[in-house]
Amino acid sequence: MKINTTKTTKNLLKCLICGNTFSEDTPGVAMPFCSQRCKLLDAGRWLDEEYGLPIEDEESIQQHNESSENYPF
Ligand SMILES: [Zn+2]
Repeated sequence: MKINTTKTTKNLLKCLICGNTFSEDTPGVAMPFCSQRCKLLDAGRWLDEEYGLPIEDEESIQQHNESSENYPF
């Protein structure tokens, strides 16, 4: 666990597709993703994998995201 002590004034969001952090006022963002491309990729994942998991909470989503990084697409 790393603790970020830097003061963050912006609400930084983490893209669930590519893992980039971004702020919602960044040009080109497609909430809740960092870009239109990632938004489309997410839609493609739903269509391809049909992982119709119910949205539980942020913690489980992050765990899913982190574990998926161990596998190449
Ligand atoms: Zn992204």
